Amino acid sequence: MKQFVLLLFVMASGAALAQEKSNENVPQWKGKFEQLDQILPTPNEYRTGSGSSGIKYWQQQADYNIVAELHDDNQSISGSETITYYNNSPDVLTYLWLQLDQNLFAKESNTSKTSTSALKDSSSAKTMANQLSLWDFDGGHKIRTVKDASGKDLPYTINKTMMRIDLPQPVKAGEKYALNVEWSFNIVDLNKVSARSGFEFFPQEGNYLYTVAQWFPRMCVYDDVVGWQNKQFLGGGEFALPFGNYKVSLTVPADHIVAATGMIKNLAQVLSDEQIARLEKAKTSFDKPVLIVTQHEASEKEKNKSREKKTWQFEANNVRDFAFASSRKFIWDAMAVSIGNATPLAMSYYPKEANPLWEKESTFAVKNTLEVYSKYTIDYPYPQASSVSWINGGAMEYPMLSFNRTRPNKDGTYDDKKLNRTLNGIIHEVGHNFFPMIVNSDERQTTWMDEGLNSFLEYLTETERYGDRGLAWDRAKASALIPYMKGNKTTMRPLMTNSEQVIQGGAEQYGKAATALNILRETVMGHELFDKAFKEYSQRWAFKHPKPADFFRTMEDASAVDLDWFWRGWFYSTDPVDISLDQVRWFKLRNAQTSLEGKEKTVTKGDLASPKNDKKAAEDFSNGPNYISVIPTDSRFYGEYQNTIDDKAVITKLERKNLYEITLSNKGGLVMPVIIEWTYKDGSKEIDRIPAEIWRVNEHKVTKVFAKEKEVTCVWIDPQKETPDISPEDNMFPRSELPSKFDELKKKTK
Ligand SMILES: [Zn+2]
Repeated sequence: MKQFVLLLFVMASGAALAQEKSNENVPQWKGKFEQLDQILPTPNEYRTGSGSSGIKYWQQQADYNIVAELHDDNQSISGSETITYYNNSPDVLTYLWLQLDQNLFAKESNTSKTSTSALKDSSSAKTMANQLSLWDFDGGHKIRTVKDASGKDLPYTINKTMMRIDLPQPVKAGEKYALNVEWSFNIVDLNKVSARSGFEFFPQEGNYLYTVAQWFPRMCVYDDVVGWQNKQFLGGGEFALPFGNYKVSLTVPADHIVAATGMIKNLAQVLSDEQIARLEKAKTSFDKPVLIVTQHEASEKEKNKSREKKTWQFEANNVRDFAFASSRKFIWDAMAVSIGNATPLAMSYYPKEANPLWEKESTFAVKNTLEVYSKYTIDYPYPQASSVSWINGGAMEYPMLSFNRTRPNKDGTYDDKKLNRTLNGIIHEVGHNFFPMIVNSDERQTTWMDEGLNSFLEYLTETERYGDRGLAWDRAKASALIPYMKGNKTTMRPLMTNSEQVIQGGAEQYGKAATALNILRETVMGHELFDKAFKEYSQRWAFKHPKPADFFRTMEDASAVDLDWFWRGWFYSTDPVDISLDQVRWFKLRNAQTSLEGKEKTVTKGDLASPKNDKKAAEDFSNGPNYISVIPTDSRFYGEYQNTIDDKAVITKLERKNLYEITLSNKGGLVMPVIIEWTYKDGSKEIDRIPAEIWRVNEHKVTKVFAKEKEVTCVWIDPQKETPDISPEDNMFPRSELPSKFDELKKKTK
């Protein structure tokens, strides 16, 4: 045992010394493979070191009973809600925090105060009006009353987008508390302001299409990590919401169709017998959507605007939010999807302006999303998922409901780009049902946990169901990240940055995060280990509130792959991937017989390449191999061992081999696995895949020797562009091979 230790020591120190000598000016060691111990929160009985919830994990619940009316005459909403709040925490609560998101549009909002602006030679009136808050719009939540269950007024304080209600009696652990809030607000005109919720006006016919969200005072999350999550809503960072059960009754113009989170509970009061029969038919239509409201029917209603009202009743259980859309313009179709033992409905609501694009594509896109996401995460648990057409620049997600952009041209035509954008949008927003609606992360603090994971699954859905349809699908592809990684570092932020401080959110929180996961699956972990771990995370945290550490830990816990280096590089740094193949040297053994006879000969550096060959050898293989000697193992290496190894056998094994010593530098800083493609003289190819841990001792420069049967003509690092290497021109040896090789790759990827 002792001898063995000594031998290891001799070998290790020799190797270290050699490394040190050849890298005299190496940059500082940055501990890229050190564990994240100091950075991740200490595990406890709420959240374990394995990444799952602990034995004492708890979360709050907020049930809502909402009665509201949509006023089509002045585009406003008024409502009354009873919230039943369940304090499942071990803590005593003396106040509750609610979110008043509409206050983003109030005159005194911090969003307009803190957004920066500058003057240009010419600007559009709309831009100027937005910059200087010139709209004459009375926005914001108007709180009329806040009362307890017995109707007594409760004291409250509004701080911008947050409202604190002070409780007359503390709510103890395990207790519940009911309160009532009455409110109203004016709905934002989406033509003027880009928002997550608002109305679209059709001036030719005088009709409105409402997409309504963040519309009722909503409970904040109270949890074991931050207490009350009452970070102000500035418009960028999305939402953190507790789960609960909703009963919502919405009064709207009688000829409106309402799309919403949950299921309609009073079909007979809001739909005709014929519409109910069509909806029934949709429940067993698995191959194509059934129209519940046709384009013709919707067009008729547009002409004869009803003055009557109707009240729709919805119920949704175990959801974190409730949104709805309402218009007489809605065409409505639905079909059934088979997920496990359930058959949820995939549905779409759209005005005639969205046809023929939407009737062809939307509901199928919903179905494809539910099927593929369920495979990689958990079976879709809700009874329906809907896609609503709106016209705002972005798209937005809610439980069972999403607002999606893009409509065809006025004449009904659309090109591939528009089709792709439509499909991208629907798949992405419907996909958000899983992250963050079910795996309920805190969007206000961490954007990649929903946007990154979702963009990654969006990519899997698109490639599985729609194939390669061009640039629109590229967000998770490594090569698509290269322009970003090549860009200006001063505007880059690590993924672990709060969304309000992010400059390139699309490229980072969506694109980089999705690419990271794609690389993790394709190159680092492999499908089997990744898919199991990712599913484990989804199952562990479905209907719970995960934090970044829970994801990082679960991915390792379920796979036995130490990924701390990966999280460090991809989530905590802005380093790009840039590996350079500095040098390849070709060697063969000197005649074996001579080697064995030269017993006194010791291997020194000078043996590796004779000086006259060095320069030429550094450029290509044309000067033939250099020669090295393999000599018998000195008896002192064996110490007290009785046995010795068969030197001759080793030498015989290497005799005809070509030895290649490759030198790689990590110029970018982000450590990555090394994928080496060898092209042999006979035209055949071979790939060696080296895990990222090759960089664990020297993060900057490594050399490694390979023994190959055949003569090599070209060595290429990452030939299929699995990693976003920002300077691929130094990935090949000999360098001169590069242009032809690139043409070859281009042909392949077309
Ligand atoms: Zn999203």
